[in-house]
Amino acid sequence: MAEAEQDAQENKDPTRCACGSQHFVLEAYLEVDGGRITPEPVEVEALTCPECGREYEPVLTADGGVTRGEFRGYFEED
Ligand SMILES: [Zn+2]
Repeated sequence: MAEAEQDAQENKDPTRCACGSQHFVLEAYLEVDGGRITPEPVEVEALTCPECGREYEPVLTADGGVTRGEFRGYFEED
């Protein structure tokens, strides 16, 4: 399976987790303006992968996206 190969060799794509997942949860402070959340976060704390529990430093891209930065370790759920 392709998944097993991705586990063996760490994924280098900054939009994907090392486990191959492209789904992240961003921990951030968001600004609310007139009842609307502004798309640009005030401050970003962490980018975590719910699939494997890896936590990364969030990196904001010029086009308003978020990619993974430095790997910080595994986050603990409780
Ligand atoms: Zn992951």
